[in-house]
Amino acid sequence: MPIPAITSADKLFTEVANQLILIYGANEAQSITDYLLEGTLAVTAKERLAKKPLELSDFDLDVLEEAVKRLKNEEPVQHVVGYGWFYGRKFQVNKEVLIPRPETEELVHWIVNSHEKPDRAKLLDIGTGSGCIPITISLEAPNIQCEGWDISEAALKTASENATKLGAEVHFKQVNVLEAMIDKGAFDIIVSNPPYVRDSEKPLMSKNVLAFDPGLALFVGDDDPLIFYRKIAGLARTGLKNGGWLYFEINEAFGKEMKDLLDSLSYSNIELRQDINGKDRMIRGRVG
Ligand code: GLN
Repeated sequence: MPIPAITSADKLFTEVANQLILIYGANEAQSITDYLLEGTLAVTAKERLAKKPLELSDFDLDVLEEAVKRLKNEEPVQHVVGYGWFYGRKFQVNKEVLIPRPETEELVHWIVNSHEKPDRAKLLDIGTGSGCIPITISLEAPNIQCEGWDISEAALKTASENATKLGAEVHFKQVNVLEAMIDKGAFDIIVSNPPYVRDSEKPLMSKNVLAFDPGLALFVGDDDPLIFYRKIAGLARTGLKNGGWLYFEINEAFGKEMKDLLDSLSYSNIELRQDINGKDRMIRGRVG
């Protein structure tokens, strides 16, 4: 049924959400609809609650219809509107970068809360994607000077655009970490959310992720799922200053292995943390 041009924010919301319920279920359909209406027509959840009257142009209706079609094809709403929220800010996203995840907000929160104090600190984010980690940290903790590496030139372009739009000064660099070196004691903090989903876990993932997020950012072979962690933890052992910290987001299945890995490299103060869903999701350790 076509969406009527003269309507109200709440009616429009119900019309769109109902079209998505079969695919996404009620809860997700509703949050996607809020995201969509704000991102395409600037209709906010507040206006929905206030039942604000709306008169939609033919153009609005076309945009909406096209967007609903893409959502029915399970394209992530962040791709449809062109941005994803992270730590209260809008980050431009596309097929070249992973859509920022709430788990990663928790990792960033941990870092920001732990390192607000020092006068000046240097941070490196390895596998930066959209740049959400270093951009957010540099805006939340201006004492931390941030650098971001990625192997993908297209991702770095998106990251740089995000930094410019959000007014963050982050230095981005194209690096393949598996072949990289880090100068001795160059950083106070190194952080990474590298690919950690095993190929064998693909059948558990939704089309939403499999068809639209870049595989390069997500998947590792089952033969060596900690390849990036081993390499980065090794580099950071000397790349961090004495007293510097290494932070990782991790696959929930590898909490113990990650502890053992940091232990074997003589990191101190190793701490494993769970995410809001109670899953082992992040770890940190200190040099010295
Ligand atoms: N948390 C992401 C997901 O489940 C994975 C991120 C990653 O591989 N680094 O989609």
